[in-house]
Amino acid sequence: THFGYRTVPLDEKQTLVDDVFHKVAKRYDIMNDFMSGGLHRAWKNLLISRLRPPQGDRPFLHLDLAGGTGDVAFRSVSAGGTGTRAIVADINTEMLAVGRERAEKRGLADRVEFREANAEELPFEDGMFDAVTIAFGIRNVPRIPLALKEMRRVLKPGGRCMVLEFSTVDVPLLDKIYEFYSFKVIPSIGARVAGDAEPYQYLVESIRKFPPPEAFAQMMRDAGFGRVTATPLTGGIVALHSGYRI
Ligand code: SAM
Repeated sequence: THFGYRTVPLDEKQTLVDDVFHKVAKRYDIMNDFMSGGLHRAWKNLLISRLRPPQGDRPFLHLDLAGGTGDVAFRSVSAGGTGTRAIVADINTEMLAVGRERAEKRGLADRVEFREANAEELPFEDGMFDAVTIAFGIRNVPRIPLALKEMRRVLKPGGRCMVLEFSTVDVPLLDKIYEFYSFKVIPSIGARVAGDAEPYQYLVESIRKFPPPEAFAQMMRDAGFGRVTATPLTGGIVALHSGYRI
């Protein structure tokens, strides 16, 4: 165990994850801003600026996996031209419901579709997508190599996969501050604002266990991706991984 939190067996993990996002769906967006100090917006913006969806009416189909309430997909279709469309796939219906509502409010409902799907077993044909992204989602998936294989399978040859995820802080002092913040501050904010500390304890624990950038890059190569890169951001709090189906 890490810091007294129990280690969760693989088969229990998805149930626990589902429970977490079921509990927080309605407050998810506000908690995200609150806990990251708005930084998650900058990270998502960077993801989309690197992905650069095309301008004009050139068709570009983007799958945002574990897309939750639609943040990444909304940015993608707003940055791209009229040919850019996105599918948000998530295992959690409550998160998707919040996302659909937000899409309506933004007038993006005709360009962003929401689908219930498990990252380990995608309900899409081979080679459908120009891009597949997953932001702050892959660490929740029990069998990451399976999900990576699926992500590669649904990409067109030449298509790009980008993974944004919490990573390993490697800046002296920032690492200590970050540790204190994540193990002490986040669960207590969770308890006060969302009324429950446990989901946030799980969140912190899962971040802790996620492989460092180079190790994750290797997992992407093992899944068959080519030209894989890993870019640490904000002192390593998160890392952006990229690879292509070649
Ligand atoms: N990508 C969104 C964002 O950045 O705001 C949401 C990230 S949220 C931290 C993690 C999401 O992963 C949740 O919506 C959860 O339901 C989803 N998730 C967890 N396990 C999944 C799985 N096996 N397949 C698909 N989505 C999953």
